[in-house]
Amino acid sequence: MKIKETEDEEIKDLSEKLSNLLFHGNTNGKKNTIPITYLSFCLRKAAFNLYFGTRSFERYPKVALGEMLHLGFQKLIENNARYIFQEDSKFEFEVPLEYELENGWKITGRADFTWNNKVIELKFKDFDRFSGIDLDEIPDDEVLKAYIEQVNAYAFILDKEPYIWVFDNREMKFKILEVEKDEEQFYKMIQKAHKIIDGVEQLREGKFPIELKQRFSWECNYCIYRAICNALK
Ligand code: SF4
Repeated sequence: MKIKETEDEEIKDLSEKLSNLLFHGNTNGKKNTIPITYLSFCLRKAAFNLYFGTRSFERYPKVALGEMLHLGFQKLIENNARYIFQEDSKFEFEVPLEYELENGWKITGRADFTWNNKVIELKFKDFDRFSGIDLDEIPDDEVLKAYIEQVNAYAFILDKEPYIWVFDNREMKFKILEVEKDEEQFYKMIQKAHKIIDGVEQLREGKFPIELKQRFSWECNYCIYRAICNALK
């Protein structure tokens, strides 16, 4: 009985996609795809992640918890779909999406949930920061803004209407935010993608993308590149 490395293109393609998912978080590989989530945070960090291929090393407890909660939500819906939805409803979880830029670059993402003409991001309210205040009172520089930008981008790419469901675990209920679709905002995201690409190009030339900065004041506190940025201040 002989074994050999397979020449079957279909299974080789599947294997490559799985490997890319594991190591780069998308099916395309590391060099030329920018996760949409990067566009709402520090663009320098995004350029570093792409250049060093470090995305898969960033695992925070909150991210892992968020993933578990998403899986729980998905299971809850799937197990009860026939009670929740009309028979002809179309729903899908973890919907892959991508948008082509030039020179082989793409922005990519995964929408939490689509249901007919809606794309829905599921968020779990962070009580340390939002405790005791209403969603309307959330300040402008809060991360919720980033979520709104992301779901707006998903909506443009998938041609759907954007919503955010915030699960309030204090009151055990969802608050549903309907997001107004904003084309200008989507193109601002594309401009940010171009800045990240410029940053990666600078890194490839041995330069530091000094003009790229963090967006939120807390970002550097949790960043794996803090020592590098501090040294260059
Ligand atoms: S340390 Fe701050 S400025 Fe530097 S890459 Fe991280 S978040 Fe961005």
